Amino acid sequence: MSKLRENLLKIRENIESAAKKSGRRAEDITLIGVTKTVEIEHIREIMSLGVVKLGENKVQELLDKYGQFSEEPEWHMIGHLQTNKVKFIMDKVTMIQSVDSVRLAAEIDKRAEQRGKRMDILVEVNVGEEDTKYGVTRGQTEEFIEHLCKFPNICVKGLMCIAPYVKNADENRALYDKMFKLFVDTRAVFTHNTDMRFLSMGMTNDYTVAIEEGANMVRIGTALFGTRATSSN
Ligand SMILES: *Cc1c(COP(=O)(O)O)cnc(C)c1O
Repeated sequence: MSKLRENLLKIRENIESAAKKSGRRAEDITLIGVTKTVEIEHIREIMSLGVVKLGENKVQELLDKYGQFSEEPEWHMIGHLQTNKVKFIMDKVTMIQSVDSVRLAAEIDKRAEQRGKRMDILVEVNVGEEDTKYGVTRGQTEEFIEHLCKFPNICVKGLMCIAPYVKNADENRALYDKMFKLFVDTRAVFTHNTDMRFLSMGMTNDYTVAIEEGANMVRIGTALFGTRATSSN
């Protein structure tokens, strides 16, 4: 069995058991394969194994990879996005998971309108309130979504967070639980002009804990493709 297939099977097993622990099924959890620094041939292989939703954290890397597949994957922008780069990815991504300012949202809305489309986005929450991370705080989230709801060409699909890096995944359990509560609360408040269905949290180190606490979308790079050669976060 190829290494990638082996990795994917293991991840699928882990997702299934974590989903069960939180009363859900594996199918309820969306896997985003994070392909930063990954060679095209490996991306093609993982797609042939059924992973067709892929995440990139840099605009340039996404553009480099785009168009190299017989059938284009569903691209998700998961990294910090500068306002002046929105135009480059509007036609290429299915979802922008890293929306953290009204200014960025306004630009996405404008570019979407020009193209006669509506862009799906997630609100990035800086759940650990770390200086090194982007995102709105939990306290700001509701007011932020209120602003986003006014943009007709954006659809808020849920929340995303990048939890602190910890040695032991359990250390993030309380934060993931807080994110889940925030997700449930905001989903109840915002029923118009939004479609709050995704809670994107959990990476290689802690995706099982994230799922146990309510994540329904996980973003996994290293566990799928192996350790990255360069430090691209
Ligand atoms: C790199 C990255 C991931 C995946 O990280 P791994 O630890 O390799 O699974 C997930 N989300 C974001 C935003 C990333 O930049």
